[in-house]
Amino acid sequence: MERRGFLQALALTALGSSLARTVQAAAAGTMKNIEALQKNWRALLAANFRAPAPGEALKLSKDEWRKRLDPAQYKVLREEGTERAGTSPLNAEKRPGVFVCAGCDLPLFTSDMKYESGTGWPSFFTTIPSVFGTKKDFLLILPRTEYHCIRCGGHHGHVFDDGPPPTRQRWCNNGVALKFIPKQG
Ligand SMILES: [Zn+2]
Repeated sequence: MERRGFLQALALTALGSSLARTVQAAAAGTMKNIEALQKNWRALLAANFRAPAPGEALKLSKDEWRKRLDPAQYKVLREEGTERAGTSPLNAEKRPGVFVCAGCDLPLFTSDMKYESGTGWPSFFTTIPSVFGTKKDFLLILPRTEYHCIRCGGHHGHVFDDGPPPTRQRWCNNGVALKFIPKQG
């Protein structure tokens, strides 16, 4: 009896550790996939699109920005406004391609990084590397992490930690702050 109990315990431990290994491997695999999405984002860039680099800073005066952007884009990008939920056509955008900054064309996300969050704003679980700066804001009293384009400083949205695994990130982006460049056409 004792021996059987011991063997059962041994079997359970083995099962437990093999399960743990499987889960670990799956998680590592998925993080690898995320890294691959970040590394290979250019595969989704249209052949004729000339993407600027994050380091090519674009600094314009308020007047120049007003000329370059429409009023809705200006409100979000330059005044940290928030568009009304459910208003962006990009919520439904599912074609392969790249989402670039509406202010300066810097590529920010690919279609492979997008997911349906149900919030009414285009949402992403990761980003193209090194394209955003962040700061804490207190506009809704509770601190939130604001993020903005590293090239032009334009406000895009807020990042939350209730996204899907494995990153658990939800980059909640105003649609008017983005332009979608389909891979084809
Ligand atoms: Zn920008």
